Amino acid sequence: MADVKALTPRATDFSAWYNELIARAELADYSPVRGCMVIRPNGYAIWEQMQRALDQMFKDTGHQNAYFPLFIPQSFLSREAEHVQGFAPETAVVTHGGGKELEEPLVVRPTSETIIYSMYAKWIQSYRDLPVLINQWCNVVRWEMRTRLFLRTTEFLWQEGHTAHATEEEAEAETRQMLGVYRRFMEEWMAMPVVTGRKTDSERFAGALRTYSCEALMQDNKALQAGTSHNLGQNFARAFEVTFQTAAGGVDYVWNTSWGVSTRLVGALIMVHGDDAGLVCPPRLAQYQVVLVPIWKTDEERATVMATADRIRGELVAAGIRAHLDAREGMKPGAKYYEWEGRGVPLRLEIGPRDVAGNSVMLARRTGGKKESLPMADLAARLQEVMETMQRDLLETARARREANSIRGATKEQFLAAMQGSGGFVYAGFCGEGSCEAEIKEQTKATVRVLPDEEFRSPQQPTTCMWCGKPAKTEALWAKAY
Ligand SMILES: [Zn+2]
Repeated sequence: MADVKALTPRATDFSAWYNELIARAELADYSPVRGCMVIRPNGYAIWEQMQRALDQMFKDTGHQNAYFPLFIPQSFLSREAEHVQGFAPETAVVTHGGGKELEEPLVVRPTSETIIYSMYAKWIQSYRDLPVLINQWCNVVRWEMRTRLFLRTTEFLWQEGHTAHATEEEAEAETRQMLGVYRRFMEEWMAMPVVTGRKTDSERFAGALRTYSCEALMQDNKALQAGTSHNLGQNFARAFEVTFQTAAGGVDYVWNTSWGVSTRLVGALIMVHGDDAGLVCPPRLAQYQVVLVPIWKTDEERATVMATADRIRGELVAAGIRAHLDAREGMKPGAKYYEWEGRGVPLRLEIGPRDVAGNSVMLARRTGGKKESLPMADLAARLQEVMETMQRDLLETARARREANSIRGATKEQFLAAMQGSGGFVYAGFCGEGSCEAEIKEQTKATVRVLPDEEFRSPQQPTTCMWCGKPAKTEALWAKAY
């Protein structure tokens, strides 16, 4: 039975809206295991589309997929001092196997730097073996106390890229390249604009030299870290003895990078585009881009309408469009519209006896506007155009909303007012001091999301720290975050 109760509006309670949307669209569910979620077929289909696109982008930039074990010897985590401090509190540890206590406990991977670099130490001998460009699609476990579907769960799905290079410059170029790949994916596929830049030391990945991030603004004006790329320097290479013979005949440690995005992106997609009727899925990531809903009253009408709808579906599929015919019996068209709206299907085609007679179909867009009658001839080409426009418009709408909720060159008072009020992105001068950053976080809950890359910086660069008034070392992007 379809749940016909309207969603709590976003403006009333964003968090309730988010949870109700996920239930209504059947994207995910809570599991019997605390903190773990079940990704239902409608949610998994979006993740599969994301995976497919990203995987191609990784391969186009020279990476290969591989798979490493779920279990990591506990001692591996301790080899890199910052890494173990960062991850130890949230690990799950296996102490028994086959009814016996293990000689060494095994950690369920929270991330795979340690086990992967232990293997790289075996595989890499010479500069000729470099670079190593490997990606892994897998699940990871981080013991979370407070969980939210897709955004923060104890187990989640992700990809983690791990590369090894001969020089620091190459590793830095790789780190930046993959940040760019993430940005392109988020903008071109998710229609989600992001600000890229470097993390401060307090937000840096445990064990990294530098961490870069893509930050997006959700509709409740909180930031979401959508993807990170780390230059690990030689920290892990030293810990795992990953050395190589240089071209000049010496021996050096390799330079590593790692980078990842997760099923968190599904949560981001919901919060960037969703509306009070449910999910709004950008066409490029939708499980079904077009759903056909047949309308009839008599058996005779049913026969002709269904035959035509099925033929159109076949033509759309042949043209590369993910089309679905909703042939369910005993369900009114209106109930079907409502359900597909909630699930975010970009386009709906209604086909009744009059449409069949007139060789036309009725098009409804998930993003609104008037319904439109389209001729059946050249329908696929026309729908492709409509979807391209929708994809672009979603990105532009999200960008305009973000900019309308961004303040540049903020004073301390403006910053405080924003953080106590409607939130959003605040660009302001920053002295670069960890103590200043910590004080701001404690008093306002806001954090430095990134020190923005050049193209995102304000034209007028601030000269003093918005908080303490000392000379500004840089401009920082502040926000409350998920
Ligand atoms: Zn300061």
